[in-house]
Amino acid sequence: MEKMYKILCGRLFDGERTVLEERMEILTEGNRIRAVGRDLPCPEGTEIIDLSDATVTPGLMDAHTHMNFIEWKDFERTMLYQSPAWKGMAVLYNARKGLRRGFTAMRHCGTNSNDAYASIDAKRLINAGYFEGARLVIAPHYVTCSNSHGDISHRVAQNPALGEKLWRDYPGAGCGPYEFRDIVRTQIKYGADYIKIFANGGFTTPNDSPDDLTLCEDELKSIIDTAHQLKKKVTAHAYSTETIRLLVRLGIDGIEHGSLLDDPELIAEMEEKDVYLIPNFAAYDQIIFGTEELLKKMIPAMREKIPRYAERMLCSRELVMKSRLRIGYGTDFVMAHNCYESGYEFISWMKMGADPLRVLRAATSVNATILELPETGAVKPGYLADLAAWRRDLLHDPEALLDCAFVMKDGVIYPVEKSE
Ligand SMILES: [Zn+2]
Repeated sequence: MEKMYKILCGRLFDGERTVLEERMEILTEGNRIRAVGRDLPCPEGTEIIDLSDATVTPGLMDAHTHMNFIEWKDFERTMLYQSPAWKGMAVLYNARKGLRRGFTAMRHCGTNSNDAYASIDAKRLINAGYFEGARLVIAPHYVTCSNSHGDISHRVAQNPALGEKLWRDYPGAGCGPYEFRDIVRTQIKYGADYIKIFANGGFTTPNDSPDDLTLCEDELKSIIDTAHQLKKKVTAHAYSTETIRLLVRLGIDGIEHGSLLDDPELIAEMEEKDVYLIPNFAAYDQIIFGTEELLKKMIPAMREKIPRYAERMLCSRELVMKSRLRIGYGTDFVMAHNCYESGYEFISWMKMGADPLRVLRAATSVNATILELPETGAVKPGYLADLAAWRRDLLHDPEALLDCAFVMKDGVIYPVEKSE
């Protein structure tokens, strides 16, 4: 007989509904939820887990991470100086840290490092049970053009000879629709779960702007159509309204950041077409609410760009929060926290006055659709037994997700760690 647990929940958030239910019970058998309710049977051999002083939720999911890095303060150096093997092991390390914080799934949004296919090996090793970690959804490399935000040679822009060497060896580097068609096929051939495009410049790269469209329309079309032909979804790092409008017209599935999106009509079109948005509020808080003191510590490209964009980003947030967009929960931590500290995103939503149950739905049932992980993100009979529990008050305490009390993935209980 498979291992059975009966979990006594002080309160239960099921991932979908807008209520917390008191004194509920969950019965798990093997890696599945068998029953949810009150006064459930307790077959012989069932182990009781008493979480009557906590709120139980589905295991949470972070839809936007970069798991090739460990210490965020070293991220620029890691990109250039650590080997592909080191970066693959970093993915395993981060998947374990994330799981122990109550995040049972993490979506890796790629890297500009050459030969980053080891991120897919990390997923395979976790799925085979050799390592402890969150479920992973992987885009190994960004699909990107020269001088885009995903172009690693920005980091050595004062040494073009070295930059060109790095650029030409990068598996996601292309130019023109035919080359991008081949790149998408190749990424999928080697195991990419989805495709991530860099459509706009960024804040940390020196010679571009978050408003610049980097790829051309025929290139974007080729990437999106080829991925869809192979039944894979496509998401794009994109900020500006003009770029997002073009991507939506070309059939993109999702947008990462969207921080300068300021057109209510385009937002309505995205709602209608069900294009999801992962806004990464916490990562951009330092840009919007950063002090002079913080600005002084930033790299020169950030210092130069931030004052020009903060106001527009704040206006965009207000529009997005009022919308009915399918908004996912994702952190994108490379410059504020280590990538597995996914609980910090909750603080940013709560500070903006978001309904906490909307945030929790984003991190569970909504993210399950974005990560394409069926039978996860909700506490329902037949679903996978991925659960977390929290002792702090999820309805009023913005830091509640920094303090995980219990985590189960695939019916197995793992140790928990507090956020740093
Ligand atoms: Zn990112």
